[in-house]
Amino acid sequence: MKANERAKLKIQSLTLNETAEVEKGAEIIKRGGLVAFPTETVYGLGANALNAAAVASIYETKGRPSDNPLILHVSSVEMAAELVKINDMAIALMEKFWPGPLSVVLPVYEDKVPPRTRGGLDTAAVRMPDAAIALALIEKSGIPIAAPSANISGRPSPTDAETIRREIGKKIPLVIDGGETKFGVESTVVDLTGKNAVILRPGGVSKEMLEAALAAKVLLPQDQNIIKRSPGTRYRHYAPLLPLRLCKAGDTPKDNGNWAWIGTSHPSGNPKVKVLFQNTGEYAKELFRTLRKLEESGTEIIYAEIPDDKGIGSALKDRLIRAAGE
Ligand code: AMP
Ligand code: MG
Repeated sequence: MKANERAKLKIQSLTLNETAEVEKGAEIIKRGGLVAFPTETVYGLGANALNAAAVASIYETKGRPSDNPLILHVSSVEMAAELVKINDMAIALMEKFWPGPLSVVLPVYEDKVPPRTRGGLDTAAVRMPDAAIALALIEKSGIPIAAPSANISGRPSPTDAETIRREIGKKIPLVIDGGETKFGVESTVVDLTGKNAVILRPGGVSKEMLEAALAAKVLLPQDQNIIKRSPGTRYRHYAPLLPLRLCKAGDTPKDNGNWAWIGTSHPSGNPKVKVLFQNTGEYAKELFRTLRKLEESGTEIIYAEIPDDKGIGSALKDRLIRAAGE
């Protein structure tokens, strides 16, 4: 089964209630408005990707730096092919991982996608999300939807609708509630404009998975002479209002200070608040929500266990490092 068919099947799981919300959302998108909606990674703040004014209001609402480009969300491979110049690597990855948490960066059709959407670059990132509401919203609108995470720039990404209502609810006409998101960390961003694929941001699709699909070596930014980076990685991200420090379970503070612990194993010291996850997947899924909750817990500092660097663990570690500002 291929990407398009998987997307069609996914859309069929939409409930009646969700269909009504999607219809409202599609009308807003077509008018150039903003809609917050769930994907399988985090919630997005979406607008018509081809309408520069609509896209400008995403940046304004989030306070996002204008040179940080957006990911264009599509509901079919054909829709992607109208935006970016697809190559063999892209076809292989789309058919393998779409719909799913993988954004591919390719040369853009500059006359089609406004510079505002792509941060003035001559490339663009496209992705087919694996969530019925998101796919249906794109399909019903009939246009690619540009969507960053639906939070104020720099804050942890929202993984449920309530977080958005509280943070930016007053500024946007519609938040579609689809419950908690499945992955909890954003998509993998992979650059396919060169000879080798380069991971610009780790996410739900790991390096090993990409290498298996391409039968070729996939590079990390540090593997190259000319450092290719996602513009977004220049900025502080995912930051909780409390200081956050990363450490191993055995290296936690021994004092009785007012600290919180998050991780998959017990800390050596005695925290005021302890949040333990079953495994790395749950740690990733719950990270952003937990950081926001701990802000209200009365603790003064968060210690977070460094996860294993495998699978989703590398995406989780990346988010933790950024959240800590390290
Ligand atoms: P966000 O939507 O906030 O999770 O961030 C999207 C990420 O994709 C950011 O890190 C962007 O810099 C990155 N991105 C989007 N478009 C491009 C592009 N054309 N080239 C490189 N990175 C991109
Ligand atoms: Mg974001």
